[in-house]
Parts: sequence; C-alpha cells; structure tokens
Amino acid sequence: MKKYNFNAGPSMLPREVIENTAKQILDFNGSGLSLAEISHRAKDFQPVVDEAEALVKELLDIPDGYKTIFLGGGASLEFCMVPYNFLVKKAAYLNTGTWAKKAMKEAKLFGEVVEVASSADANYTFIPKGWTVPADADYLHTTSNNTIYGTEMRKDYDVPVRQICDMSSDIFSRPVDVSKYDCIYAGAQKNLSMAGVTIVIVKEDALGKADAVRKIPTMLDYRTHVEKGSMFNTPPVVPIYTALENLRWIKAQGGVKEMDRRALQRADMLYSEIDRNKLFRGTVAEEDRSVMNICFVMNDEYAELEKPFFEFATSKGMVGIKGHRSVGGFRASCYNAQTVEGVQALIDCMKEFESNH
Ligand SMILES: *Cc1c(COP(=O)(O)O)cnc(C)c1O
Repeated sequence: MKKYNFNAGPSMLPREVIENTAKQILDFNGSGLSLAEISHRAKDFQPVVDEAEALVKELLDIPDGYKTIFLGGGASLEFCMVPYNFLVKKAAYLNTGTWAKKAMKEAKLFGEVVEVASSADANYTFIPKGWTVPADADYLHTTSNNTIYGTEMRKDYDVPVRQICDMSSDIFSRPVDVSKYDCIYAGAQKNLSMAGVTIVIVKEDALGKADAVRKIPTMLDYRTHVEKGSMFNTPPVVPIYTALENLRWIKAQGGVKEMDRRALQRADMLYSEIDRNKLFRGTVAEEDRSVMNICFVMNDEYAELEKPFFEFATSKGMVGIKGHRSVGGFRASCYNAQTVEGVQALIDCMKEFESNH
C-alpha cells in the first residue's frame, strides 16, 4: 500500500533527494568511495558546502554581509548559542509555544529576558498581536512556525530592534526579508534535510558585541564557524549533502515563491475539509493557521471517534498524523515535499470516515 508521510520531523523529503543521496552514499561522484567514508576536507566535498551556501543565498535572496553555516547540535543548541553571541544586556522574546519557551529558558542564563507577549494561557492557539518591543533590547526572538501547536507568523515583523528567528519548521517555504534579521536558524529535519545539521544564517557585523560582557567557548562562537566556512571541526557530511540535493530540488521547482504557492494550496484544501466535515474542527485561530503543521481534533460530540479515525486513516496508508501530546487529536505536517495527492488522500479518509458515521 502507498504510504503518505505526514511526520512532523524528521519528515518527508522529495523522493529524488533521497534517491540521489542514496546513490552518493554508495559511490560519491564516481570515486569508488561512499559519501559516508570521505574526509570532509576532501577536494570533492568542499564544492558541496559551497554550492549549498550559494543556493541558500540565492533562494532566500540574502543580501551581502551574511554568512550561512552548517552546524551540529540541532535548533536546540541555537537556543543557547543565540544569547551567548547576541545578548549583551536584555533580549525580547515572543512566547508562541514550546520551542519559544525553551529558547527563553536558555537566554535567561545570559541576561535579562523580556517576554513581549505570550499565548500560553490559551494553550498557544494564537500568535499574540499588538505587543511592543523595548527599544533597548539587543534583539527580538521569534519562532516563525510553531510546529507543535500549528500556528505560523507568515510574515516578517516590523520592530525597532534587530530580529533573530527560529525558522526550523518553515524555512524555504516562503520568501523572507532576511535584511531584518541578525540571525536565522533552522534544524534541518523538518523542511530541509535529514536530522544532524542545523543551518544558521548570520549577519557578520552583528557578531562580537557580546565580547564586552563574556567569553564564548570556541565551538559556541559563531565566528569560529563563519571564519572556517563550517569546517572548524567535522560537519555532518551526509545531512549537508542531502540539504544540497533538496536546495537544488527547491530551485528546480521554482524556488520559495513556488513552495509558498504549493503550501497555501495544500493548506487551503485541508483546512477547508476540516471546516466542512462535521466530525472535525481546527485547533487554532484562523488567521494564525500554519500551512506547515495542520492541527485538528474531533468535534466534542464525536470525541470517542478519535482512536477509530486514527486506525482508519492508518489502514489507508496515512503515517504520522497523531497530534502532539500537548494538543491531542491530529497533526498533518505538510512541508515542501508534501504533495497535493497526499493531502487529497487524507481528505478522502476524512470524507469516507464521515459518511460511515
Ligand atoms: C523541532 C524544532 C526545534 C528543535 O529542533 P532540534 O533540531 O531537535 O533541536 C526547535 N524549534 C522548532 C520550531 C522546531 O520545530
């Protein structure tokens, strides 16, 4: 049976990205060696990093003065590296969910943290509006897409301070105005590559301000990786290669504008069915609905059908639709590689299940 992958992360990648990675794992560039057994300093690998960096710049239309680096440690390590490198005295954080909260917890180790707004009291079902950022904050930190709760900013804020954003689960899904940010980071396993690499886009002249207040361990200093072109130590070679294949795929499909168009199309299809189907309802405020992680639950009068629907959908090939435990119900993750066909298959399940009940 055909499987439809709605996993939240690690998650679906385009088939050709997986196939091309598999080929290179067997024989890298016809060298007779596996991608997994060559040195990261091999002359054939440097072009992989160079091309990946160039494609990131091209696809996100990054202005000069920024550097893209490939690190290990996941987005979770960035929660600590960001304040280590950028927090001098005070930082502002928008609390939109679990990941934002974890980022704030780390920042508090380094200085004053101002929570500009929070939707915690409403179980993060919306993105707070109408807040202000202290003009003397070193930066405002946001989470562009809240993978667990299914809310998404879908725009770059206009605020009087520099911004830093965790774009782990929607990077390359829409155009971004990078010039507003000192730093953008993303764990790769949602929308870019397999687990193991984190992409960090950093404005070079924003680095070094924290020298006035602290020393930074070498590995946690962004300058180390900027200066060494992600080769200070051994980077995650295979995940970087997979990222390159995916970046090539995104470009060939028409870039982030086309990714945006497709994401909106898929999300429109699925949310329309959630709103129409008497069994289900969405969990978040309509204007903040994520086009990447689409969360829904059974309507109250059909609550007992949650497990039966899960089993029914699983029997039809749906994978990874169980909601996160902090929301319950269902979550269909529709990253760049998700297809209209996959979303239609899930919609067909919902319709068929409705007609059976
Ligand atoms: C998954 C996720 C993280 C954590 O990523 P790791 O790579 O597992 O550390 C952080 N932020 C967001 C928005 C995520 O979706």
